[in-house]
Amino acid sequence: MCGIVAAASHRPVGDLLIAGLRTLEYRGYDSAGIALQTESGLERQRIQGKVKALEDLLARHPIEGVSGIAHTRWATHGVPSDRNAHPMTSDALGLNGSNGASTLAGHQVALVHNGIIENHDELRDELSAAGHMFTSETDSEVMVHLVAQLMSEGNDLFDAVRLAVKRLHGAFAIAVVSAAEPGVVVGARLGSPMVVGLGEGEHFLASDVYPLLPVTKRFHYLEEGDVIRIDRESLRIVDADDQKVERPLKIADMDADLVQRGEYPHYMLKEIYEQPQAVAETLEGRIGPHRVLPNIFGVGADEMLQRVKQVHIVACGTSFHAGLVARYQLEWLAGVPCTVEVASEYRYRSPVVPPDTLFVTISQSGETADTLAALRHAKASGYLSTLAICNVPESSIVREADLVLMTRAGPEIGVASTKAFTTQLVALQLLVLELGRLHGQDEGAYAEAVGQLHHLPDLLNQALDLDEEFAELAQLFVDKHHALFLGRGSHFPIAMEGALKLKEISYI
Ligand code: GLU
Repeated sequence: MCGIVAAASHRPVGDLLIAGLRTLEYRGYDSAGIALQTESGLERQRIQGKVKALEDLLARHPIEGVSGIAHTRWATHGVPSDRNAHPMTSDALGLNGSNGASTLAGHQVALVHNGIIENHDELRDELSAAGHMFTSETDSEVMVHLVAQLMSEGNDLFDAVRLAVKRLHGAFAIAVVSAAEPGVVVGARLGSPMVVGLGEGEHFLASDVYPLLPVTKRFHYLEEGDVIRIDRESLRIVDADDQKVERPLKIADMDADLVQRGEYPHYMLKEIYEQPQAVAETLEGRIGPHRVLPNIFGVGADEMLQRVKQVHIVACGTSFHAGLVARYQLEWLAGVPCTVEVASEYRYRSPVVPPDTLFVTISQSGETADTLAALRHAKASGYLSTLAICNVPESSIVREADLVLMTRAGPEIGVASTKAFTTQLVALQLLVLELGRLHGQDEGAYAEAVGQLHHLPDLLNQALDLDEEFAELAQLFVDKHHALFLGRGSHFPIAMEGALKLKEISYI
């Protein structure tokens, strides 16, 4: 899940889309791109690297239009490169029909995608056989050809997307434009978020509300399976059963600033209440109904994970405790041996690394000095691969690890880790489940464990509903000077983390 911003307007939208991509940078990405409906048809620019690099490219080769789509990519299928950057386009083939598209210059259909298409191999074979030429290694490209194919069979863009998404397995948010229908943008979502912004004589689509706050405060949140068509004047949504639906209007009352305290007396409380949302975001686009989606840890990760014979987790403080929890689960659920170690000690050892050992490091900030030093030490020590679980996309640890899973908890200001810790546990659980599946975990138990993950945000909300009872219980402890936390099994590290939090916050 990275970022999508799209617009159908009466004014040039290039700058607005690029500014939108900037606000989505916090999600992490490796390339950026844009396609605009220009006077001569659809034109695209895309590049590996930062949004800044895309801006520089656009300064050299300007394109402008009143509708278009923009994207930041976090590669899952195909390396980060210009060629694999979105928007994906389908060129002329399949569109030279009665809709007159053959007379339009440039690309015929352009599409941006966040998520993972699981059945891309099968679709690619089918579309290649029908004559479509593939130019990238991404899973996403099958969708643009599928939409083009369906348009060549006489469907308009909306119907083509509606029919195409029925063929897709996996998780996606997409935005699609066609040279044949200037001014129209079609979107769809399943497993990855998408919102619709309502402007004055203009409409927008985006992965979340932040990129659109400068242009509107009025939104609809799309639901699972929804397909939407926007132009500057109108919008139309159908649900997964093709029924026309309206989604409730929400007025955003938040500031563009992510770290406002709002109604909460302090950040820690705010962050405690953000856990259900943070956990939902950590899971978004990463699990299907019954399985963890392929390559969520990065390009080629699944092949590597298949080879893993043991796991070595190295971290500090709260992240170390999360690692200790994961050890119980890795051994119990996945049957994979695991050791967990504090980074400040590990970095001074000369580790003897058994073959096919995966090094996993966990850090909220991605800058923890001992953890970063441990990662560098590990990279010189002959591990099969290094994987970082981290919350800050631009951090050193993310840049230096071979593979990364972002926790997407958002900024954490409070001293005691709350949502960063819970999302680390969730990210580690995804690793445990994936290793379990690749190492022959019973399929029924596996599917059930994935199914349970879907309930986590709700369960966290139920726990938070007990707030008043916790406040009453706290009265029993308020004048105590010593505390002892007890736990067994995976609750032993949870007890250690509880003790750490109490010490950090109360100095008891
Ligand atoms: N799976 C797609 C790719 O690798 C999209 C990744 C994303 O969510 O940005 O290109």
